[in-house]
Amino acid sequence: MIYERFRYGDLVTNRYRCTSCGNLTRFDVVETTSIRSFHHYSVGGELSVEEPEVIAHSVESVSCRWCGHGRGVEVLPESE
Ligand SMILES: [Zn+2]
Repeated sequence: MIYERFRYGDLVTNRYRCTSCGNLTRFDVVETTSIRSFHHYSVGGELSVEEPEVIAHSVESVSCRWCGHGRGVEVLPESE
């Protein structure tokens, strides 16, 4: 499958902070994301996926990579 013009990281933009160790950059995230997109096939049958839109997103768990658990992890407000 060919995704054009977007990356998964552009769609899911939550940021986290571990209050136990101060980590802002390394997390193990288990999540479910439902994406509606426009599947565009060429005459030759090659698929490109365009106009992705996240219609449902839920985070099952977030663990700090350094602490090995998620007890200190909090979600940062989007403006930060
Ligand atoms: Zn940590």
